[in-house]
Parts: sequence; structure tokens; C-alpha cells
Amino acid sequence: MQEARIFHHALKVDEELCYGCTRCMSVCPTTAIRIRRGKAVVDPARCIDCGNCMEACPVDAIVVEQDDFQKIFRYAYRVAVVPSVMIGQFKEEISESRVINAIHELGFTHVYEAEFGTDILHRISGAYPIYAAKGPIISSFCPAIVQLVQVRFPSLVSHLNLIKPPLDISAHFAQRELIKQGARQEEIGIFYVTPCAAKIAAIKSPAEEESGLFNGVINMNFLFNLVRKTLVRQKKTASIPKPDRSRISPAAVTWSLTNGEAPHMKGRSLSVDGIHNVIEFLEKLESGEITGIDFLELRSCDEGCAGGILGSGNRFLTAERLRHRADSMKALDPQVLKRVDAQEDYLSRHIKLAQIRPRSIVKLDDDFQQAMRKMERIQELLGSLPRVDCGVCGSPSCEALAQDIVQGRGELNQCIFYQRSQEVLDPLRSKRNLEHMRRIWGSGKFSI
Ligand code: SF4
Ligand code: SF4
Repeated sequence: MQEARIFHHALKVDEELCYGCTRCMSVCPTTAIRIRRGKAVVDPARCIDCGNCMEACPVDAIVVEQDDFQKIFRYAYRVAVVPSVMIGQFKEEISESRVINAIHELGFTHVYEAEFGTDILHRISGAYPIYAAKGPIISSFCPAIVQLVQVRFPSLVSHLNLIKPPLDISAHFAQRELIKQGARQEEIGIFYVTPCAAKIAAIKSPAEEESGLFNGVINMNFLFNLVRKTLVRQKKTASIPKPDRSRISPAAVTWSLTNGEAPHMKGRSLSVDGIHNVIEFLEKLESGEITGIDFLELRSCDEGCAGGILGSGNRFLTAERLRHRADSMKALDPQVLKRVDAQEDYLSRHIKLAQIRPRSIVKLDDDFQQAMRKMERIQELLGSLPRVDCGVCGSPSCEALAQDIVQGRGELNQCIFYQRSQEVLDPLRSKRNLEHMRRIWGSGKFSI
């Protein structure tokens, strides 16, 4: 039997702020949220870190954890791996060089754009490498999508491209180059500046069991504010010339946006963004309705990483600025390519993911016969539930409550329709039913 893994999730519910409004529960694409004692509770096995709950919460009760920024100073070599969308958040008059310079000023000794990893992959493989067992190939760029496939579409796991994300490739490059220049491994701290929670989870509990490349994660909105303050301070003095050549290619700059990756793939490709659109599409793929497509670029957020929950600007403006930046970019610096060539052997050995395993959320039992019996029980229970998905039971749908019951995490008398029908037969039950409701919604909601 496969050992259960503990999955790291960066999103946490602040119980002080949460008042059990159920908005997060309604939008969660993997039915990971329940209401217990009037607060949202996230099931770590089901959560895919898409951030939909955080966006939906009216009181900001869902927060993203990050490492303490001071942690960077534990290292002599402090590397920031920054997504292109970080730069796209700044107005055009603030050049990329100024943003990078400000990140240096904050304490980083080296700054790389995460999507530089796509240039590395192209350079060492001659094209973007594909390592999927089945077509259509599903991009593994967006970690929320990788988790979604693992959790909700386990039969499609073999379609995922087993290639490490560009941010990992950039980190390998940075680490290797510093070691070649004489740095010791323990002196190097690599920090990813993340636009979303899913990338934090991917770094802290990767899809395959390999980790240790990154020493910490910094939320993009946090760094954005620090950079902005630094730029204001520098305003009168800073004059940073634009480089003659670009540090990354135009294709890499727009790679994380919707339709940034698909045009570079062979054959017929398609881009879909927004987690609920992606789910609808994957349901069709699973049922065999999709034919003739070779490559699927799927992004959890609208406008790709420009729409990440840790972005500070308008996602459409960020995406437009990055496209504009790509259009006006100079040729990729040949010196950069020489540096990549110098590490080709090492990098070639570190671009592939060994495996991505399914993580089924509805695994009912290890024993097949038992699992079948539980499946039948779910159907039976669904027959007695009203199927109105009202959420009063504290589960997002009648089906989710039925699953909770057979998995020993719920009771039929959480259903208000069931309670009322029982009270008709036995009026004395109403007191007990009120207790059930208090367990779900907390006492405060019954003190009217
Ligand atoms: S991050 Fe996404 S999957 Fe996780 S609880 Fe929130 S909405 Fe559900
Ligand atoms: S959206 Fe979720 S976390 Fe926010 S207050 Fe409502 S129940 Fe609580």
C-alpha cells in the first residue's frame, strides 16, 4: 500500500476572522472545505492550493504563509528567482533593470527570472522537451493544475509532461553556476518569489518526492511593496541604463501568461485558463470527447500567472505590459547562452521529473470489496438526501456529505431535511438536532 504523504499547504484559515459564510466552500473546485463550529476547515488531502477560496473570502480570513524575509541573510549567496509577472506589475517607465536593481538593494546578491528556465530547456534540448506517456500532453507548468489532475482526474496523470517547471531549472542553473565559481552549497540560499499559493506547495511538497532546491519562499505582493518603497527612495538618484541585450527571450517573458506556452508546442495546441474552465475541459478529456489536440496548456488562474492571488496589480494590465515588453525586447544575450552551454551536461540530467502519482480524494478503502460496498452506500445515502446542495450540513454538496458519512467524517443527521423528517416522527429529537447544528455552525448562530 502506498504510504500517505503529508502535503504542505500555504493557505491557512484565520479563525478569528472567519465567520462561516460558506463562500469559500462554494467555490472550492475539489470540495476540500467543510464548516465546523462556524469556521471553515480545509481538508489537506483534497486542497490543490488554487487560491479560489482566498479570492472569495469577504473578510480576508484566508491567508498565505511565507518565510521570514530576514531568512535570506543566513546565506552568503542570496538568490532571488522572480517570475516575469513581478516585473509586469510595474508601470513601463520603471524598467526591468530598475526592478532587478531594487531587488539587489534589498539584499539579494543574484536575481534570475523564473521563466529563464524555458530558455535553458530550449537551449539544451533543441525544443521544449516532452516526457508524457500519453497524448494529449498536459503542461505541468501550473502546479495547481498538476495537483488538480492528481486529485480529481487520476486517470489523466499519465498525460502530464514530466518536465520540471522553469523556476526549478533556473534554480538548478543558479546553484550550479555559484558552486562552479567557488561557493559552498550551504552558503547558497535560493528563494522563490511566488505569485500564488500553489507554487509554495509545489516547492514545499513537490509532486514527486524530491525537494531541497529552494531555501524559502517570499510572497510576490510582499516583495512588490518592498521594491516599490525602494524605487520611491531611489527616485532622484537612480539612473540605471537598459542592458544592450536581454537576459531572457521574448517567449520566456510571456510563457506564464494564458497562451504563452501553447504556441511553442508542436502540433495542435490549446490554452484554457480559470480552474472551473479547466475542470470542465478535463471532464471532456476524461470521457473521450476531446480528439485531435496534441498539447494542453492549462492554467488555474485567469490570465495565467498574471492573475495569481499574490499579484498586486490588475492582471490584464500586467499581461499586456509583459506582451509589450516581449515585443520590444532585444536579442538574447549570447553571453547568457554561453553560460548555459557551460552547464549543459549537468542541467540535462536535472530537467525531468521521475514520476507524478495520483492522489485520489475519494479512495474509499484499500480493500476492493469494501470500497465497492462503500460506493453502494454512497448511492443509497444520496437516495435519501434531497440533492439541493444547500450547504446547511456544513458540506459543499449532498454528494460530499454522503462521502463524508461513509468515510466516518460525517453523519446523516447533519442534513436539515433529514432532521425535519425525523422530528415529525419524534418531536423529542429537535433538541438533539439543535446540538448537531451547533457543532456545524457554532453556538453564536443560534442565539437569536
Ligand atoms: S486553495 Fe483551492 S482547493 Fe484549496 S481549499 Fe481553497 S479553493 Fe479549495
Ligand atoms: S469565505 Fe470561508 S474563510 Fe472566509 S469568512 Fe467565509 S467561511 Fe470563513
